[in-house]
Amino acid sequence: MSDTVTQPPPLNALLAQMPAVERVIASPLAQALVDQYGRAQVLAAVRATQDGWRREAQDGTLALPANDTEPFSLERVIAASTQRLEARAQSRLRSVFNLTGTVLHTNLGRALLPEEAVQAVMRSLAQPANLEFDLASGKRGDRDDLIDELICELTGAEAATVVNNNAAAVLLLLSALANRKEVVVSRGELVEIGGAFRIPDIMSRAGARLREIGTTNRTHLKDYEAAINARTGLLMKVHCSNYAISGFTKSVELDELAPLAHQHGLPVAVDLGSGTLVDLAQWGLPAEPTVRATVEAGADVVTFSGDKLLGGPQAGLIVGRKELIAKIKKHPLKRALRVGKLTLAALEPVLRLYRAPEFLRERLTTLRLLTRPATEMHEAAQRALAPLQRALGDTYTASVEPMFSQIGSGALPVDVLPSSGLVVRYAGKGAGKGGSGRALLALERALRRLPRPVIGRIADDALRLDLRCLEAADEAVFLAQLVELRL
Ligand SMILES: *Cc1c(COP(=O)(O)O)cnc(C)c1O
Repeated sequence: MSDTVTQPPPLNALLAQMPAVERVIASPLAQALVDQYGRAQVLAAVRATQDGWRREAQDGTLALPANDTEPFSLERVIAASTQRLEARAQSRLRSVFNLTGTVLHTNLGRALLPEEAVQAVMRSLAQPANLEFDLASGKRGDRDDLIDELICELTGAEAATVVNNNAAAVLLLLSALANRKEVVVSRGELVEIGGAFRIPDIMSRAGARLREIGTTNRTHLKDYEAAINARTGLLMKVHCSNYAISGFTKSVELDELAPLAHQHGLPVAVDLGSGTLVDLAQWGLPAEPTVRATVEAGADVVTFSGDKLLGGPQAGLIVGRKELIAKIKKHPLKRALRVGKLTLAALEPVLRLYRAPEFLRERLTTLRLLTRPATEMHEAAQRALAPLQRALGDTYTASVEPMFSQIGSGALPVDVLPSSGLVVRYAGKGAGKGGSGRALLALERALRRLPRPVIGRIADDALRLDLRCLEAADEAVFLAQLVELRL
């Protein structure tokens, strides 16, 4: 036995031995890569790998395995290039676990669609379809014909059309009905919905003049009446989706406002935002005005989102009186804001679920998630506790705790949905003395780096994982990947 260690040759000599790009590419080992990614991509990956090593060697940042005599062998080059190619080929739009507790999370894609809708989208992608083709007459059709009857059936409206999202619906509605005219809106309803969607801005983009009335907390019918003049084109109500004014307040209900508008020969438009098609109070959820009730109360045009409480794809639905919808559909912006076949394919089966309301809670994914009993989440959390604690080691402690989920996407921002989940607190050095902030951020980052990123939320000095949106079908994947958590 000798205790002399073979010294590896100096770095420069090793780098000089690195196989030439052409040799790498021509090797049988590279063949599978070329077959999968094409020659150009493989060449680029090999070059990038080798250039990276040379640069790191120069900067002195190259980390080599100890006593490695062949760190730049053909096999090593191929392995590193494969990693590069795989990383580049990974989709940027990734599936994640939404454990934020917000069911309709705008940043995480809002509503999840039922299987019927998924299948319909896949069919529409791979096969030609009668998107704008009337199968009865063999003539050109209108894409709205595919769903407008169904929307009218479910809302009681005379006519309907669909655009890309509800922001587009409001923009189109104002452009078509109120261009160069005044639109009367209560000050208490001049909302910002998030991002850059502010009612006053949309109004000016549409060429309409905003006529603000009342005060932030109180608006009376006589305020509307006093604002109406020869230039008035529309009275508008906007659902205060994401905030509530409480205390000394007064707003004018639609059933009071509509008769006033109609007396003056003016239409009333309502931007409902979330706009549900069924009364959610029957499942213990906060009551939201339904589209049907809004139409019945006298609204001439109503706009609402497809991917909020409706539970469908991103879309903006516009329903209302026949002649107004016709005018909206004729506006050039309609062509620019129209939906594609994927949206229509997804929307139709979702809407059809509403024809059997007794099954809705089970079949409409959004509603199923919103109405899950807290016991289900509690049991799932119990099952996940041990695997999670094992993955966390002893610098963090996990526990199962009750919590509240949010509906999200503009439904009132209050805690209304009792839930349960996992709460992780830092238990290492400096815990409780400001040391946990960084540790929780590190944990949050590690969860985001899992193969299917886990998105939780940090609040009250703990990382919280609300299990409401982790359904049984995904639980095994969630648990299995915890062993890959790298803190
Ligand atoms: C969400 C919302 C919008 C915007 O709808 P998108 O579908 O996100 O474009 C507009 N108005 C109200 C009142 C909303 O709640």
